[in-house]
Amino acid sequence: MAEPSTAEERLGDYRAKRDFATTPEPQGGAALPGARRFVVQRHRARALHYDFRLEVDGVLVSWAVPKGPTLDPKVRRLAVHVEDHPIDYIDFEGVIPGGEYGGGDVIVWDKGTWTPGEADPAAAIAAGELHAELHGTKLAGTFVLVRTKGAGRGSRGGGKEQWLLLHKRDDFAVAGWDPEEHPESVRSGRTNDEVAAAPRARWHSDAPADAAEERLGADPPTADELVALDALGAKGTWAFDGVEVRLTNLDKVLFPAGDDGVPVTKRDLVRYFAVMAPAMLPYLVGRPVNQHRYPQGVDRRGFWHKERPAHAPDWLSRWHNDDADPGETEWYVVADRPAALAWLANYAAVELHPWTSTCAQPREPTWAMIDIDPGTSSTFDDVLVLARLYRTALDHLGVVGLPKVTGQRGVQIWVPVRAGYTFDDTRGWVERLSRAVGATVPELVSWKWHKADRDGLARLDYTQNAINRTLVAPYIARPAPGAPVSMPITWDELDDPDLRPDRWNLRTAPARLAELGDLFAPLLAVDQELPDL
Ligand code: MN
Repeated sequence: MAEPSTAEERLGDYRAKRDFATTPEPQGGAALPGARRFVVQRHRARALHYDFRLEVDGVLVSWAVPKGPTLDPKVRRLAVHVEDHPIDYIDFEGVIPGGEYGGGDVIVWDKGTWTPGEADPAAAIAAGELHAELHGTKLAGTFVLVRTKGAGRGSRGGGKEQWLLLHKRDDFAVAGWDPEEHPESVRSGRTNDEVAAAPRARWHSDAPADAAEERLGADPPTADELVALDALGAKGTWAFDGVEVRLTNLDKVLFPAGDDGVPVTKRDLVRYFAVMAPAMLPYLVGRPVNQHRYPQGVDRRGFWHKERPAHAPDWLSRWHNDDADPGETEWYVVADRPAALAWLANYAAVELHPWTSTCAQPREPTWAMIDIDPGTSSTFDDVLVLARLYRTALDHLGVVGLPKVTGQRGVQIWVPVRAGYTFDDTRGWVERLSRAVGATVPELVSWKWHKADRDGLARLDYTQNAINRTLVAPYIARPAPGAPVSMPITWDELDDPDLRPDRWNLRTAPARLAELGDLFAPLLAVDQELPDL
């Protein structure tokens, strides 16, 4: 196998097998400075094998080992040199859909760092012999990879090099060691069977590598992980969700005390985002997220932040806006795992506003958004009158949608729509609906653009139905004392005399979620046509 020089060139075979659409996005993440990483994934595709992958020059150089690596120095294992994989694949655990290349289930069987025995590992691989000292959970000590048989001519996509993998007789050698006796993932503790039965991620090998992983639900932190978070000092590293999240200024007060008299610290926000991740993530996964940040606390001025910072960790997903105008943000954060929410909380990204469209189709909204925005003289009763009128109108039209209180003064109604609508479609539809609603209570509503011209009346704001215009996501905290949150409610709760727009906060929301589940969840499965108005 010839040795291409750059990571981009090295991924040529990976891409060739996966038929990427032409795209300027990088199809592999940047290498971390410092330690080289390795992963061994137990992969049940057409046949069981272990994928032995070493980070070299920004890619994962890979061998498929049918019987798996062993610490037994007497055993030599066949290792078929397969195409380099993108770094983004290093943490992947889940399923690859049947029919796609490598279809089957994958666990992170072992991972850690490695030290090459040769000064230039890429050259050593090209020359056919590599020494790798592994520092993993299961695998340790020096492994040797030796090429025994070249791929022959015309090998691209056809014949593959055969190598042998063996363990040196060193302090880490163990006679009779069998990888099949150690079947659990070092990432989740789960076996291939358990991952196949309830996968938490899917890998789409036909997508660019940095967008290939689709997360399928999430786990909240374990009791031990929460104890570890509380045990950290003002800063430290939190092992959570299979990665290490660096946390800082954990005891900083971000929200003044609310009615319970207890201020809310950054540690509280990190814990809240992590605990609520299973409910929050479905509204964030696969979308760029605009952040309203309050590093000095919410009683100081916050600011909008969109750019994914250069210091963000490698595992934090990102999306490139190909349509960005000069000076506009190009790289956005995509919050697609619990650890990403913990990272954003630590970044004092108090409010997360996901796009209403997805990274895959940024010009096609998946939600039509109704925003009842109270004016200075609107009461919450006025807001409820308007929300009930929308309830009646949507019911009459047979359109599915649900309200949430904003955590501030208003109510929003989220209406899921099928793929293929433009923002002009959703904005026009919400405007026509809102004009009809507003016409029945003209004394409550102003259509004036400028706040000052509205005589304190409410605005039925349809203009957020536009690209890169956003509303706060469900369960997100708002910048006010006590950290009130934007909470999904049932239509019937509009008639609950105890309803307040800021009724739930960071300390009370988890109990409500545990009791009622995510009320918006049914909307996620709705593929809805908007009726003509
Ligand atoms: Mn494989």
